[in-house]
Amino acid sequence: MTNQFSEKLLSWYDRHGRKDLPWQKERSAYRVWVSEIMLQQTQVATVIPYYTNFMQRFPDVAALANAELDDVLQHWSGLGYYARARNLHKAAQQIRDQHAGQFPTDYEAVLALPGIGRSTAGAILAQAHGQRHPILDGNVKRVLTRYFTVAGWPGEAAVAGKLWAHADALTPQTRVADYTQAIMDLGAIICTRTKPVCNLCPVSETCSAHRENSVARFPTERPKKQTPVRKIQMLILLNDREEFLLERRPPVGIWGGLLGFPEIPIAENPADWAEQHIGDIVVYETWAVMRHTFSHFHLDITPVIAVLINTRPQVMDESRWLWYNSSSTVGGLAAPVKKLMQHYQAGELHDAQRPMRKTG
Ligand code: SF4
Repeated sequence: MTNQFSEKLLSWYDRHGRKDLPWQKERSAYRVWVSEIMLQQTQVATVIPYYTNFMQRFPDVAALANAELDDVLQHWSGLGYYARARNLHKAAQQIRDQHAGQFPTDYEAVLALPGIGRSTAGAILAQAHGQRHPILDGNVKRVLTRYFTVAGWPGEAAVAGKLWAHADALTPQTRVADYTQAIMDLGAIICTRTKPVCNLCPVSETCSAHRENSVARFPTERPKKQTPVRKIQMLILLNDREEFLLERRPPVGIWGGLLGFPEIPIAENPADWAEQHIGDIVVYETWAVMRHTFSHFHLDITPVIAVLINTRPQVMDESRWLWYNSSSTVGGLAAPVKKLMQHYQAGELHDAQRPMRKTG
């Protein structure tokens, strides 16, 4: 099957593959490397103008290694995922200092450079030097999970292990550079994520998913994690000037250094909590739960509207607490705080319910 797969793929590539991409001209490990890093999270069409500019400014390893990081980041600006640019710069300096400025040709040495994983190392050496290494980028994973009907999320080590074994078995002994480009092109042009064009695919006759009519089931999606939920009460506490009491948050953690409403554990009575920390309050009402989502958890906020009757000066530490009104210019506000203030100020409370609304 190996020869059949690579032969069919290569003859398709000869007719339809991409052969005039900028990094395919004047091919060198440096030029292929930069292209591979730019292509890691970004489409070819977006990469091309960035690549051309980058190559004009940093035509070789020495130019990149000797440049200021700011200059490199400026040429990356707009491509996103800036760790890629920082690693590129750091790796160029390692090549200058540890490999006499020559991009290494040894697989392990390439793999040891910052920002280069197994697939990228293989792709660079295959395309720049014709060395036989399999690759397994996102496009190739998709092709192989379908071609061999490999179930399970490719991000799992066991599934990735199977895919690497298939990728290795299919990689031919000759024309490795073309084959590497060909299998990436197959994934990018034919075996696409949402609408694979199986009727134009050179390997459709031997593709298991196509034969079983199960293409849409592959690759298996990443299992959905249950996002944890944290619950808190936020005390929207007003004084008789209708100012909000805000707390300076610690410099680290969520909303680090911003100003927020006092947070009260969900199970605690707000009046009891306030008596200990701030003073006597009267609670007017509780609003519906507002969800704020962070990357790793949901925060369910129960806003509690109250007014301060009696401050305890010995408890109120001024470096921690402040009274805030719309003309205040101190510090940034955490996102839900802004929202809740707007909610309050928009008059969504019935006037009779408003704790401190002055009349006349
Ligand atoms: S036949 Fe369809 S699913 Fe199979 S490799 Fe080709 S494009 Fe992908």
